[in-house]
Amino acid sequence: MRDINQVYIDGAFVTPHGEERFELFNPSTEAVIGTVRLGDAGDARAAVAAAKRALPAWSRTTKAERIALLRRFHAAVAARRDDLIAAIVEEYGAPKGRVDWMADMAATNFLEAAEALQSYDFDQVIGHAEVRMTPLGVVAGITPWNSNASFITAKMSMALAAGCTIVIKPSEMSAIQTQVVMEALHEVGAPKGLFNIVTGRGDVVGAEFTSNPDVAKVTFTGSTAVGKSILRAAAETMKRVTLELGGKGPQIILDDADLDAVMPAIVGSGFLNSGQACVAGTRILVPESRKAEALEKIKAAVAAVKAGDPHDPEVSVGPMVSRKQWDRVQSYLKLGQEEGATLLVGGEGRPEGQDVGWFVRPTVFSDVTNDMRIAREEIFGPVLSIITYGTEDEAVAIANDTHYGLQSYVLSSDTDRARRVAAQLEAGRVIINGAPHEPQAPFGGFKQSGIGRENGVAGLLAYLEPKAVLV
Ligand code: NAD
Repeated sequence: MRDINQVYIDGAFVTPHGEERFELFNPSTEAVIGTVRLGDAGDARAAVAAAKRALPAWSRTTKAERIALLRRFHAAVAARRDDLIAAIVEEYGAPKGRVDWMADMAATNFLEAAEALQSYDFDQVIGHAEVRMTPLGVVAGITPWNSNASFITAKMSMALAAGCTIVIKPSEMSAIQTQVVMEALHEVGAPKGLFNIVTGRGDVVGAEFTSNPDVAKVTFTGSTAVGKSILRAAAETMKRVTLELGGKGPQIILDDADLDAVMPAIVGSGFLNSGQACVAGTRILVPESRKAEALEKIKAAVAAVKAGDPHDPEVSVGPMVSRKQWDRVQSYLKLGQEEGATLLVGGEGRPEGQDVGWFVRPTVFSDVTNDMRIAREEIFGPVLSIITYGTEDEAVAIANDTHYGLQSYVLSSDTDRARRVAAQLEAGRVIINGAPHEPQAPFGGFKQSGIGRENGVAGLLAYLEPKAVLV
């Protein structure tokens, strides 16, 4: 049992004033593995006050000073890589062989922010105006449970690069990895108040951050429903917002695709983070002309996906993060059949041999139409829907017929053709044939997948405001 009793405010670990405790579970065993004592609104206010005190000095630092500190943060988090991996496996049940990127990103976010900062010129002359990009002020970061450590450092690194200071409310479900990150960052000995981390409830600590008049900006990653409530709360004090929200990504298989070659990319993005990823490609669009072949290959590929113990190197789908999430996914598995979709592989219940743990069978529905709820709503589990289309234009129309617009996928043997399709997709990012991540490229959503962008110079700009001085 691990009992976490600390929040991080003004350069020190302090006991939160809040007395509520949140139970931490191991989703593979359903056992309680610890508790975390939650901060309250008073702790949140103390964090904002500390960030406000640290702001004047930090906002005046030079690029070189900021880059030097970002590099030290990188080294400190990178040194805790093994601890982070262990925490991610324990508190999410994420398969051990598939979590390196989460732990690595938690560290490399600092180098990426330093690179964006290095390349960026804060000053510009327009006519007789001297335009300077100035830091917004105190930023509040609110992060979801999935890949929490990397979201904490993504927001923190870019805010600090811009010359802002930050308060962060991580998900209470990720308290162990939050603790690892806090310890690593503390060792760097940064100026007090630069970053403050208060784990607590969304409607308590999160709500204080989104309404506190001393917070200039909220950067949020989480569900579209909570994102909307944050946007409304932020309006009162006109806070700037960046919202990274949900998705229902289409994977368009064009009729010239080499199905065997692209199948690992299709399954990999469909079941990323055991299906609990905003960027998961959960709607597979298959050309009518190749339906039989595609269904057979997708069925075989998904039937071979091993779900179970995250410590088993052959496992690529672990449990759902919580009992609540398990129930939710099960309800969609039932709903899909009620809506008239065909269960191609998987279905309700646990995978064979798994009697405990919040495990779900990797599932594919075929004969799905885009108006079914399983095709419209973010399930956040290893559940894919196959939708067939006639022409390429129809594929694009189906792909865009969603209120989401985060990440889409195109699979084709003709890259130029895939580019033409990509140009028509309403999505902040399009991946062609399993292309790897590009950390300096803007990331964010069209439509109700969000507002604003993270990463690279676009991510840096999200923490800056132009000021024109006319001489
Ligand atoms: P969530 O929206 O339930 O919670 C996210 C965070 O918001 C948590 O820290 C929570 O405590 C806090 N919160 C809740 N109510 C609040 C309120 N009223 N005011 C302020 N804060 C509040 O999301 P989750 O279940 O933790 O994460 C899963 C969701 O996140 C999915 O919808 C997923 O698509 C999305 N997500 C998006 C991205 C992206 O980059 N676009 C990345 C990862 C996850």
